[in-house]
Amino acid sequence: YRAKENKNSFQFYASEMNASVEEKLVLLEGLRSALDACLEPGCRGGDCQFSLLYQPKVDLRTGRLFGVEALIRWNHPEHGMISPLRFIGLAEESGLIVPIGEWVVRTACAQAQAWRAAGLPPLTVSVNVSARQFEEKRLVERIADALRDTGLPPEALEVEVTESSIMRDLARSVDKMRELEAMGVSLSIDDFGTGYSSLSALKSFPISRLKIDKSFVSDLAHSADDQAIAMAVISLGHKLNLRVIAEGVETEQQRDFLRANDCDEMQGYLFSRPVPAARIAEMLATTLASEPA
Ligand code: C2E
Ligand code: MG
Ligand code: MG
Ligand code: MG
Repeated sequence: YRAKENKNSFQFYASEMNASVEEKLVLLEGLRSALDACLEPGCRGGDCQFSLLYQPKVDLRTGRLFGVEALIRWNHPEHGMISPLRFIGLAEESGLIVPIGEWVVRTACAQAQAWRAAGLPPLTVSVNVSARQFEEKRLVERIADALRDTGLPPEALEVEVTESSIMRDLARSVDKMRELEAMGVSLSIDDFGTGYSSLSALKSFPISRLKIDKSFVSDLAHSADDQAIAMAVISLGHKLNLRVIAEGVETEQQRDFLRANDCDEMQGYLFSRPVPAARIAEMLATTLASEPA
């Protein structure tokens, strides 16, 4: 990974290009230096430009907080908070997603282990792995290293991948998923229903969970089509012995529909937005206090 070398050539090309390409290059340069800063010793988990927020996942039957999804945030020194929707694509294109993703995995594992060490009820932490990252040869090794270095049990880590990432090279993806499974790390399919995996492919995935994409959840109270899709995914998931979680749950009506239709878990603003790690510790401490000894 080389950050510094390309700086001058980027400036040179930028003058020849239109604003949006120039903007991209500036953003890319920013990503590189943010990553550099985050890899400095002493930055991890501190006040780097990159940070992770954690969004609770709750069991729809018991209401129990059982897991969190780690979501990256970039606090740019001049432009403020930049959404991952704006920079993950660029990080993918440039390959920077590989070292950034490695930082995400390590930081999330270290955080999950810190909650455990503090005596809080155990959670699973999930990290998003995008296509290029998933294809990377050393992904499994990097994850194994992060688990070993932080001491987090593999069972406490989940990897979220999309159908599209998996389908880029199906055979290789299934091998990789099997390696993760063998290690004890679980897998879920993110944004399920928006990709193009076939049912026969799905059958061969060693996964434990389907995440119903939030585009099917947002209109759930009013759209008969979305209701049909959600019910179909839930029943498909259950027939394949998978747990089904709905993302983007914002209203009680959506939650009630999902619960009435046997969806297992939910994640969304209704329960909590993505929050800093300290807030998760508070939530866990509350559940600990309210449970019978
Ligand atoms: P995703 O993995 O599908 O994550 C769910 C997104 O929905 C998150 O957006 C989350 O903040 C948002 N969300 C959660 N609950 C609600 C809700 O009730 N309503 C609405 N409207 N939105 C909700 P975020 O954090 O902006 O992330 C966007 C996407 O960026 C993620 O989608 C994921 O694909 C990607 N991403 C985020 N962090 C990482 C990362 O560390 N690595 C990689 N490779 N991708 C990441
Ligand atoms: Mg996700
Ligand atoms: Mg998702
Ligand atoms: Mg999504």
